[in-house]
Amino acid sequence: MSGLLRIRWTIAPRIAPRPLINCNRCGGVRPYRCSDKFRVNANGKRIDAWLVYRCVDCDNSWNRSIFERCNRRDIEPALLAALESNDPALARRHAFDLVALRNQTGRVEEFADVAVRKELVDGRPECATALWLELRLDAATSLRLDRLLAGELGISRSRLQAWDERRMLAVEPDGDKALRRPARDGTAIRIAPSGEADRDAIASAACR
Ligand SMILES: [Zn+2]
Repeated sequence: MSGLLRIRWTIAPRIAPRPLINCNRCGGVRPYRCSDKFRVNANGKRIDAWLVYRCVDCDNSWNRSIFERCNRRDIEPALLAALESNDPALARRHAFDLVALRNQTGRVEEFADVAVRKELVDGRPECATALWLELRLDAATSLRLDRLLAGELGISRSRLQAWDERRMLAVEPDGDKALRRPARDGTAIRIAPSGEADRDAIASAACR
């Protein structure tokens, strides 16, 4: 019987990245937080859509372009309806699109807060000799993989490092360099804590 425990962690970043903008009301650079609201402007057949951000200090607004001067014919009715109703999933998708935000504003403040949901896919925690953790992320996070693992498994990062050196830990597809980089969707981590006295505690922490 296999002692492999397969677990899926679904990771949802909590705080969207904040562009650093020269706030004309505050008179200096301030982070702007996403309001999760869109602004849609229809001028004849032309439509503009923005995601509205607000200065964390003075509430001044900044409109981040989603599209500009688009012909109404070229916009899916479902997309327009989602923009006009401030659809939360659409707002989240844009708010967490770090690459697009960086291209539009330059400097961006990132956050490492995440919510982690753990699901046991296969195996039994009480007889686990190895763990196979699959990561699912719905948006980018700046949280490093080693911090995520250490925090969720209840162990120190130096112990994680020692496991790595003793080849008790493997990261796919990017190898162990990925430990010091932000956690990414599709990463899988194999851990074999079979000789560790607290392996049951580690296995159960991995599952809940
Ligand atoms: Zn301000």
